[in-house]
Amino acid sequence: MEVRVKIIVTALCHTDVYFWEAKGQTPVFPRIFGHEAAGIVESVGEGVTELKPGDHVLPVFTGECKECRHCKSEESNMCDLLRINTDRGVMLHDGKSRFSINGKPIYHFVGTSTFSEYSVIHVGCLAKINPAAPMDKVCILSCGVSTGLGATLNVAKPPRGSTVAIFGLGAVGLSAAEGARIAGASRIIGVDLNPKRFDEAKKFGVTEFVNPKDHHKPVQEVLAEMTDGGVDRSVECTGSINAMISAFECVHDGWGVAVLVGVPNKDDAFKTHPMNFLNEKTLKGTFFGNYKPRTDLPNVVEMYMRKELELEKFITHEVGLSDINKAFDYMLKGESLRCIIRMDG
Ligand SMILES: [Zn+2]
Ligand SMILES: [Zn+2]
Repeated sequence: MEVRVKIIVTALCHTDVYFWEAKGQTPVFPRIFGHEAAGIVESVGEGVTELKPGDHVLPVFTGECKECRHCKSEESNMCDLLRINTDRGVMLHDGKSRFSINGKPIYHFVGTSTFSEYSVIHVGCLAKINPAAPMDKVCILSCGVSTGLGATLNVAKPPRGSTVAIFGLGAVGLSAAEGARIAGASRIIGVDLNPKRFDEAKKFGVTEFVNPKDHHKPVQEVLAEMTDGGVDRSVECTGSINAMISAFECVHDGWGVAVLVGVPNKDDAFKTHPMNFLNEKTLKGTFFGNYKPRTDLPNVVEMYMRKELELEKFITHEVGLSDINKAFDYMLKGESLRCIIRMDG
């Protein structure tokens, strides 16, 4: 069930940096990072029937086996077999790596390892896409952009004309804003501690900006005053526990829905008064925007092809593989949303 893919372009995502820094985790070393990418199938292994050499694919850090209870459920995308596993550095079939140097293994990362000219990936972690789609644009649908976009379109589901608050205006938050724009929200309120992000956020349909540092009262109260009692939907993309609580408490009673996307710290606990739930505020969370990688990503690519979804504005930098360390510098300095890395450069 394995496929060898020639990686054409890849992009750098915060998760690569997080695991590269290996803070608070047992590092698997050495391994090849990279999980946002697009490529072309070079050859297929035994048991692979859905892909053939020449097909264009997006590798995904989580998978869809199409056979487990999660894959058979219309509500879940958390495949039992291929769900993200950050500790496993080997293939499922034989527990071995497909990379080596001088006879010693180099381990895989989240089943993708796309910072490599070729990678071997389980067929369940590859979405077959329209071959006409430009790979240097749609590669960013492999991870961050789909996560934010799906959080809004599939989970928050803002009705046309509604007001949506987005907490955190990084790549995922701006993708959530893009989802709100596509859904026809009339007001999109960006909440971020960094005022420099607002100019860029306007391109993604954000109409108003709130910096919690500018106010003496909790940001949920500021938002309630701006919106006659609360926003219709909120999407939290920071991972800060306080932002998560604010994102929930700022939605309107009776119909408001808050969606958590950001990954919290290990010891965090969510605290709110239960009366908020009795007052008909809803709290939800999502993994990879509730998209099933193989079933749904080809349709997200088609949204881009129909020009409903804009991807160009996410891509702020581009380098060749030999300059990949520059992509890390841009991200660490907070200069880039997405830096594309061309494998032939
Ligand atoms: Zn499954
Ligand atoms: Zn990612």
